[in-house]
Amino acid sequence: MSGARLRIAMHGAAGRMGQAIARAAIDAGDAELVAAIDRSGTGSVEGIAVTSDLGAIAGADVVIDFSHRDAVRGVAEACGKHGKPLVVGTTGLADDAIAALDALARTQRVVLAANTSVGVTVLFHLAREAARLLGEDFDAEIIEVHHGRKLDAPSGTALRLAEAVAEGKHLDASSFVHGRSGMVGARKKKEIGIHAVRASDVIGEHTLMLSGPSERLELVHRAHDRGLFARGALRAARWVASPGAPGRYDMRAVLGLG
Ligand code: NAD
Repeated sequence: MSGARLRIAMHGAAGRMGQAIARAAIDAGDAELVAAIDRSGTGSVEGIAVTSDLGAIAGADVVIDFSHRDAVRGVAEACGKHGKPLVVGTTGLADDAIAALDALARTQRVVLAANTSVGVTVLFHLAREAARLLGEDFDAEIIEVHHGRKLDAPSGTALRLAEAVAEGKHLDASSFVHGRSGMVGARKKKEIGIHAVRASDVIGEHTLMLSGPSERLELVHRAHDRGLFARGALRAARWVASPGAPGRYDMRAVLGLG
């Protein structure tokens, strides 16, 4: 990076996240959009003409991708060709896309993050630590709340949260219990309960309840608006464009959590 404003090439620029990141970059003041790339190749994002040409990344310090799982391999290859670090927020990647990111990570810094929220990244960290410190006397239950239009349950974030708790408790996914209904019997010590609530227009809430004898600790994350992903992606972009060892990293590394 040049020391001046961070020059960003946004891939998937015309999408919801692409536009949110472009706006967040302008609000932040220390970054600017220099290329808006989208398969449509028409229109503009924050005054930058949209192009379908991946060669437009040449003038950027960093590339951010929030597009489609099938497009990520091509972005990774273009970053390799032009020598650019890359932040990928696109979810559901297939093995060939991951392999292309790993190939790029041999020469560039790459961040791959299915959830770029800074608060959620810290929540996972605290959940792992709290579960480890409180031990098996404390029952772990996770409750997520999302708007009624959400198609999958539980949320991917709730599952990652359960994995963090399982890590802290030295358990694995076989301990996950989804919802409870009927004569399920007494709660087993090693269960990690996961519950999905669907409610009108809630953007996303995740609660980890750790209940022990005579006391209960709760960790809660509430999303106020979708800008949280955009701000986190910008933070990842600043980090990935700064000097450091090439490799594939996640949001934990961006926040210095190891
Ligand atoms: P969207 O559909 O609004 O936008 C995607 C954009 O990518 C569209 O403009 C589309 O034209 C473009 N696109 C699709 N295929 C392309 C291709 N082959 N080449 C170039 N551009 C292409 O979707 P969205 O809500 O912005 O989400 C985009 C991705 O980001 C999804 O995978 C979503 O799951 C993920 N996402 C991640 C986070 C996170 O925190 N990491 C948060 C929200 C969404």
